[in-house]
Amino acid sequence: MSDEHGFSTRAIHAGQEADASTGAVVTPIYQVSTFKQDGIGGFRGGYEYSRSANPTRTALEECMAALEGGSRGFAFASGLAGQDTLVRALLVPGDHVVVPSDAYGGTYRYFNKVAKPHGIEHTIAKVADLDAVRDAIVPGATKLIWIETPTNPLLGIADIEGLAAIAHEAGALLVVDNTFATSYLQQPLALGADIVTQSTTKYSGGHSDVVGGAVVTAKEITVPDLEDAEERIAFHQNSIGGIAGPFDSWLTLRGLKTLAVRMERHCDNAEKVVDFLSDQDGVSHVYYPGLPTHVNHDVAARQMKRFGGMVSFRLAKGEDAAVKACAAVQLWTLGESLGGVESLIEHPARMTHASVAGTELEVPNDLIRLSVGIEDVDDLIADLREALDIHG
Ligand SMILES: *Cc1c(COP(=O)(O)O)cnc(C)c1O
Repeated sequence: MSDEHGFSTRAIHAGQEADASTGAVVTPIYQVSTFKQDGIGGFRGGYEYSRSANPTRTALEECMAALEGGSRGFAFASGLAGQDTLVRALLVPGDHVVVPSDAYGGTYRYFNKVAKPHGIEHTIAKVADLDAVRDAIVPGATKLIWIETPTNPLLGIADIEGLAAIAHEAGALLVVDNTFATSYLQQPLALGADIVTQSTTKYSGGHSDVVGGAVVTAKEITVPDLEDAEERIAFHQNSIGGIAGPFDSWLTLRGLKTLAVRMERHCDNAEKVVDFLSDQDGVSHVYYPGLPTHVNHDVAARQMKRFGGMVSFRLAKGEDAAVKACAAVQLWTLGESLGGVESLIEHPARMTHASVAGTELEVPNDLIRLSVGIEDVDDLIADLREALDIHG
């Protein structure tokens, strides 16, 4: 599979040749821990033990790398397992990371409560503001600038190209969490980022039936001391062992095959939900990068194919109304996570972002976050309308 093939061709075929021994069209679930050796060290296809490598996981890793336009992919048991492996592979005590002011709550908790006690420092910065990121850099110590774009739950947009230049000038790598946009809507490596991470639990898996993570490295990393990032990640993936199992890898691969069609439909539906919300008197603000009024709409339009399926909005009546509206919907499911085919609604301040209450990452308490699914959008809007008529 070459880079010249289109996105969906790669999603369906990259890393997924028909099975050599049977011709099975879909990569089998190699539910196995160890592999027979033809004489000591005589590994068939390089497989020895499934922590080190497993054919189903290899297919997923190759597919993820092909979709992100990267050199090599690594699949993990969760998005956070991938992030942890990446941080431990690349940083040592005394190193410093710039972390976004509206990072995914679990990412912030990781840097604050896990990495920091191990000596890895961080500074929080508004990554939508290039100068704020420049100011947050500690010369000589900053090794990673970590960004999400769009961010969760406020749909902030960071300029990937601009931040890559700032990172490289400082001798640091730019890591982009591409969970919300996915490789279909945004290609961070082509914009100069060095490493992409994803929680494949979300859109890439896409069916709310698997937890997983991926890390993909750029074809070329030129920052001194970190050029060998790929080998270090490979070594740490095997040495730490937070890998994706065969069945989870298979589910994620199955999800990736339809990523392009799902994302188009998520975007179609989200745009219509945004139109509906923008017309509601009780809605005080709608957050969506596709809105021309979004502060960084121009940057989003430059680096994203479309604007995704995540929408957040605030209710003028405040927290109580937001909590009640979340409970009043029938078709939307009240729940954490995002990116599945079914539509989800949640109250970030009390749910996904409860762990950042009282910190710089606190989110407004009248905020509702939607993960707009791929159902019939008229049904989704009718259900929201009913809940907002009472509580909005
Ligand atoms: C969910 C999520 C993660 C963490 O991934 P898990 O698979 O839950 O470990 C990281 N970043 C973003 C943006 C997420 O939405």
